[in-house]
Amino acid sequence: MASIATSRDRLRREPALADALCHEQVLPGRAPVHAEALPAGFELLKPVLERHGIEHLYVHQARALEGLAHGRNVALSTPTASGKTLVYNLPALRNALADPPGRALYLFPLKALARDQLQRLEADAAALGVPFSAAIYDGDTPQSRRRKIREQPPDVLITTPDMLHAGILPHHVSWEKFFRSLSLIVVDELHAYRGVFGSHVAQVLRRALRVARFHGRTPQIVTASATIGNAGELAAGLTGEPFQVVADDGAPRTRRHLWMLNPDGSPYTAAARLFRTAVGCGLRTLAFTKARRITELMHAWILEAEPALRDRISSYRAGFLPSERREIERRLFAGDLLGVISTSALEMGIDVGALDVCILVGYPGSQVSLWQRGGRVGREREAAIALVAQPDALDQYLAHHPQLLVDRAYEHAVVDPGNPELLAAHLPCAAAESPLRGDEAWLADPRVAEAIERLEADGALLRSETGREWFAARRRPHRDVSLRNVGSAFTIQDDRDPDAERPVRIGSIGAGMVWSECHEGAIYLHRGRQFLVTRVDATEQTVSVRPVKVDYYTRALSEKETEILSRDRARPAGNFRLVQGRVKVTTFIRGFERRRVHGQDLLGTEKLELPPSSFETTGVWIEIPDEIPAALKAEKRHVMGGIHAVEHAALALFPLFALCDRLDVAGISHTKHPQLKKAAIFLYDGAPGGLGLVASLFDRFESLLETTLERIGDCACEEGCPACIHSPRCGSGNRPLDKASAIRALGLLLGHEPLPAIETLELAETAEAAPTEAPPEPETRETPPPRLVFFDLETQRSAQEVGGWHNAHLMRVALAVTFDTREGRYRTWYEADVAELIDQLKGADLVVGFNIKRFDYRVLRGYTDDDLGRLASFDMLDAVHARLGYRLALAHLAEETLGIGKSGDGLQSIAWWREGLRERVADYCRRDVEILCQLFDHAVREGHLIFRTKAGERVRLPARWDVAELVETARAEGPERDTRRAG
Ligand SMILES: [Zn+2]
Ligand SMILES: [Zn+2]
Repeated sequence: MASIATSRDRLRREPALADALCHEQVLPGRAPVHAEALPAGFELLKPVLERHGIEHLYVHQARALEGLAHGRNVALSTPTASGKTLVYNLPALRNALADPPGRALYLFPLKALARDQLQRLEADAAALGVPFSAAIYDGDTPQSRRRKIREQPPDVLITTPDMLHAGILPHHVSWEKFFRSLSLIVVDELHAYRGVFGSHVAQVLRRALRVARFHGRTPQIVTASATIGNAGELAAGLTGEPFQVVADDGAPRTRRHLWMLNPDGSPYTAAARLFRTAVGCGLRTLAFTKARRITELMHAWILEAEPALRDRISSYRAGFLPSERREIERRLFAGDLLGVISTSALEMGIDVGALDVCILVGYPGSQVSLWQRGGRVGREREAAIALVAQPDALDQYLAHHPQLLVDRAYEHAVVDPGNPELLAAHLPCAAAESPLRGDEAWLADPRVAEAIERLEADGALLRSETGREWFAARRRPHRDVSLRNVGSAFTIQDDRDPDAERPVRIGSIGAGMVWSECHEGAIYLHRGRQFLVTRVDATEQTVSVRPVKVDYYTRALSEKETEILSRDRARPAGNFRLVQGRVKVTTFIRGFERRRVHGQDLLGTEKLELPPSSFETTGVWIEIPDEIPAALKAEKRHVMGGIHAVEHAALALFPLFALCDRLDVAGISHTKHPQLKKAAIFLYDGAPGGLGLVASLFDRFESLLETTLERIGDCACEEGCPACIHSPRCGSGNRPLDKASAIRALGLLLGHEPLPAIETLELAETAEAAPTEAPPEPETRETPPPRLVFFDLETQRSAQEVGGWHNAHLMRVALAVTFDTREGRYRTWYEADVAELIDQLKGADLVVGFNIKRFDYRVLRGYTDDDLGRLASFDMLDAVHARLGYRLALAHLAEETLGIGKSGDGLQSIAWWREGLRERVADYCRRDVEILCQLFDHAVREGHLIFRTKAGERVRLPARWDVAELVETARAEGPERDTRRAG
């Protein structure tokens, strides 16, 4: 095997690579920093250390264990291969040996990582020679085994957040034995929990801690992550608990070389060349690409050039069978494979041994990923990390500032535990696990309290009669919540085969993305295969596709609108005002274009007619002072082209400031925002409800703009290119864009140049008309309160006697009772008075009854051709049904809400009628109308009724009935109340 130095010399001899090499740097090696002694309480575990050949722990390991020994939660944040696993395996083993033994819950973001860890843990336990058990519980665990795990819980349970959410917490009662001895929660790969997924997990972990408390436990938490800028903050955000941070890495490092290549041609060709050179020198090489397709392409090119490498190199990515992946990992570890080309799939966890060269095809988007991937090499021998820059703004910025690769601080990973959409998804889950109590600390957060209020109003949570507890309206709300999405998702299916029992499921896509990515005619890419979207069914939430082979891709053409819903904070910055608030983003898809895969030539465009889709999120916006567009205009520059370009470049560079993924942040530019009445650039979190990303930049926004200006200014292009202001995600096809205008606008925004006074600009601005006086308020007239008529009737015959409910019009009115709020009196109407009764009902602004639409009006249809369904009516039973999804009897509501019983039922009243007990029937009917009035009053006054759930809980049924609103709604539903139908 050649050394890194030799390989570097060979690289230098390859003209294509030598020219591309734009930066070289040597990162010095470092000796380990050991701790003096094993922390107290861990002496018993010496055999485990001996197994690893460890005499002394590294300082960070010892500090973390001490923190745990002192009862604190610990957030460990150190580089790859610094011995993080031991930091949680040791306390887990120690707890298992204690009396009484304590159990541990291990969470890994990916199933594959769980397998790897199980083996290590079992081997560590074996070194101790004591009985110990660990088990994986995930989607692959067979049912029979699951039951056994629940009944005989292992000392360490290894699972994923998804399984914890959907498979364990909802059934925590049958996991009682486990939770009653839970003493440690381990969250590994903490930095993977960010964005939408992380914000979901923040809810799941809060629920898990609630469930543990329910079973009388307060487990300690240890988190482990790659080096990130805010491990303690992230751990606290994910759990709601305080943490001690341990980040002083004591692990040794060998000398490493950092090479940056910025090739003129394709970065993939250059990377493949470099890979061949390194492998040719006998160096064990790992290349990371940013896409599955590139992984496969590079693999193919290398084999084409050097077929002899067939058995020595491999590709690696998601989508391979687990067994294939294990095999590749094993062969790489053993040195049997000399090189692997991988997607990010190999970034985390899995130990692949000591490697020599790490090639990054494109900057992986963050310092965290860069050094996690780079940490794969240099564990035993001198090694090299090579970054091949791509022609995009982010990579080109770094190619011009390569020292930043080493000097720049690690990004902050953000989660938003207050995301209203996610709270709305998880609070019902939490309530189903154990009723939410008003005194829980969690509920003190105003955003949580607000979410509960909304969920109660929507009927997803039911408030107890006392008002102090909330129950879930459904038993298993978990089923509709996936941790990988916000809101609902569409199923993508291949349903060509009419004989197949059901369509073949390809994947899923969030409802927010479906119209832009999967409209009819779109080419949807999945695992390197192309599918043509043939149909989108919004009701069924399905996207039908069929596989195709085409040489084009599609891109939706969209327009977006931003509505400012609220302003949360603002500050002056440079020459502009920066504001953060809630925004509503509405997207209109106007059509799509087809472009050739190679060369991106436009092949054609098609129109689409789709309903607009919108969501609410957090936005940060620049309010651009009028002087800037005026100055641009005066200088004959393109205003929209300038600010649009600023938006694109700022978005592209956003990952330099916060850990985020491609679709996490988006933007919109306006030359005149309808609410602000001035130009503005909005950046907003791409996920409904927000992720805390743009908000995390509020205080450092000028840095983002400075970086943006620098990138655009540095770019060698004339009029803008993908390395500065072009965006592959632009909804308007990168039009208009004006590079020079962007540079000028940024200079003015940042205050590098003073704002010119508008008067001095040579500009014939059309003077805006002076605002007209608001029209005088019309004189308000006293309007009388609406006239409500409460109404109920009894019949002479039963449904059974007339052949069923569909013949209700034959049941004959025995008598009816009304209470008219204008008259303030009850009236009784007999069969002979039905015509007058109907007139009385027609005179009401609102008829209020219980089941009137399905019953009383149908009985009256025996007497009239009028469409009584058109009366302005409020049927309380309908309102109950709409809220609960099932019906409740009037007697039930009366008893639970008012504490009064009914005096009989409909059949009883028919019997009385037959016996001639007219007074008795009248009293009974009047009693029902009284109950109606009281229930209605109760709801108007209190905003709810009380009922008993199927589980026997007395809870509030939200009923915020507002008389004026009900009248208006009823009028809207039956506009022509006097219409007669021809007989
Ligand atoms: Zn450029
Ligand atoms: Zn754009």
